[in-house]
Amino acid sequence: MAKPVHAAIGDVWITCVFCKGDLFRDREVKLNSTGMELFKFGWANESATGLICWNCGYVHLFANKDVELYKVRKGEI
Ligand SMILES: [Zn+2]
Repeated sequence: MAKPVHAAIGDVWITCVFCKGDLFRDREVKLNSTGMELFKFGWANESATGLICWNCGYVHLFANKDVELYKVRKGEI
């Protein structure tokens, strides 16, 4: 079962572009995996961080190693 996380790049918190939520499920995505070829990321032989909005399900994909994930403590939701 996925745990919700907050995410930030540097000191900027990432919020959902759709619903402005700030809770995400994180999923490590390999850009050169078979599935990602569908998204035309076959050129990039590196991993990305996929953040799925906890609230609306919008998928944010960051090919950025500086994305930091912060576990949400119990009771904070
Ligand atoms: Zn959302």
